[in-house]
Amino acid sequence: MADKRITQYISPGAWALVDPLFSDRARSILTTLIDFQDVLPSEALFHAQLAPHGPERWASVPTVMDQLKGRAKELGLWNLWLSGGDFQGMAGGEGGGLTNLEYAVMAEVMGHSLVLAPQATNCSAPDTGNMEVLARFGTPEQKQKYLVPLLKGEIRSSFSMTEVAVASSDATNLKNTTARVEGNQVVLSGHKWWISGAGDPRNAVHIVLCVTDPGNASPHKRHSLVLVEPKMKGVKIVRPMTVFGYDDAPEGHCEVIYDNVRLGVDSVVGGKAGLGRGFEIIQARLGPGRLHHCMRSIGVASRALDLLLQRVSDPARRTFGKYLREHGTVLADIANSRAEIDQARLLVLSAARQIDLHGAKAALKEIGIAKFTVPQMALRVIDRAMQVHGAEGISQDTPLAAFYAGVRTLRFADGPDEVHVQQIGKQELKRVEILQAREAAVKRKAAALIKEAGLAKAKL
Ligand SMILES: Cc1cc2nc3c(=O)[nH]c(=O)nc-3n(C[C@H](O)[C@H](O)[C@H](O)COP(=O)(O)OP(=O)(O)OC[C@H]3O[C@@H](n4cnc5c(N)ncnc54)[C@H](O)[C@@H]3O)c2cc1C
Repeated sequence: MADKRITQYISPGAWALVDPLFSDRARSILTTLIDFQDVLPSEALFHAQLAPHGPERWASVPTVMDQLKGRAKELGLWNLWLSGGDFQGMAGGEGGGLTNLEYAVMAEVMGHSLVLAPQATNCSAPDTGNMEVLARFGTPEQKQKYLVPLLKGEIRSSFSMTEVAVASSDATNLKNTTARVEGNQVVLSGHKWWISGAGDPRNAVHIVLCVTDPGNASPHKRHSLVLVEPKMKGVKIVRPMTVFGYDDAPEGHCEVIYDNVRLGVDSVVGGKAGLGRGFEIIQARLGPGRLHHCMRSIGVASRALDLLLQRVSDPARRTFGKYLREHGTVLADIANSRAEIDQARLLVLSAARQIDLHGAKAALKEIGIAKFTVPQMALRVIDRAMQVHGAEGISQDTPLAAFYAGVRTLRFADGPDEVHVQQIGKQELKRVEILQAREAAVKRKAAALIKEAGLAKAKL
């Protein structure tokens, strides 16, 4: 008999598929996460504790966040995204050890409280991807200095790639940020924006993509990643960008100038051997990270549908003599939302399983399809939820407008939809030769069967 707590979140059909692949430990973590009820009621407090404007808004983190982190740690809900590998146990064995499939279900549950749950459990972007970079490619000193405190949730980090006035979705365009190697030093200059987390007072490291070898014949070997501390001389946080007016304080998505920042050459990710490997490393970062966003977006969509269902059942909100739920268009919105969420979940679970079985590289197709379909699905569901709420649905009195703004950004972040669409289209076309050979064989066999039967060619 399926655990009702779980099937309130995940459809019974999807759960029946993944349940046999869950370890007992993962099942127990999942139910603990579902019971971690401190998160949703704390959302309003988190926003109330943030200064409404001015520098104070960026000076400290609402105290409720640390309380939630402490509680999550006590409950064993820590670093759940950490799917194993060589950095398992680096934070004193805290958390991790789940498969991507197990984590996918948990990330969906966390998506119900996108503002608090991922960070409370040390599972939030961009830290997870940054930890992965440091774990896989960092030197032992870099791991000790940045990875360990990140795993412990003591500091936060940024990934600094997108450049002002450069079409950054084509990463080979990136050129305004350069690092000159001068003996044992690297001098970094550049102008980035949309750097998530750069406003956070806890931020202790930016992983910056910069040009180190502009003359290299291969455009994929010109860049490196360097580790920069925001307190260093020459790092200037210019301003937080806003998304439909939201600044996402205290983390923010900031414009940042690096003005002749002097670093040791040991600040290159991977040390001197990491020079020229920027592209190779960022590819490794983006696969699972893109999927984590999709997993959480399904949770956001589910929460929007939950809000929709309650609103259309409110007796005070009847129109034209009926509950909203009795109008045919509303029923269709409910059914379509349910269907689309459940379809998207199966896609994400299949991508997660593919990563577990064959690695992120083998799962690029599934991850790519999820990357451009799941946020669009979630946006449709949130839009329907806003619509049934009337004008209130786009106001500050429900979280729906913030959900919409947050998910809309995923159609750009980590590469715009079109780039992924194009890649999937090209990958699909690779099947053509096999299809042509198969079709020719079918035709030959069909002609032989007709001939054997002594019949004339028939209409298809
Ligand atoms: C909230 C938020 C947070 C972000 N966080 C970070 C961060 O932490 N670090 C970071 O480095 N960046 C971050 N970004 C930036 C994000 O990764 C970039 O916006 C994204 O990669 C697109 O780059 P661009 O904005 O320069 O758009 P451009 O490259 O100028 O592209 C503009 C548009 O061109 C179209 N386009 C591009 N290629 C194709 C194609 N092949 N076919 C058809 N159309 C195409 C798309 O519609 C695309 O949206 C964030 C963005 C947002 C909104």
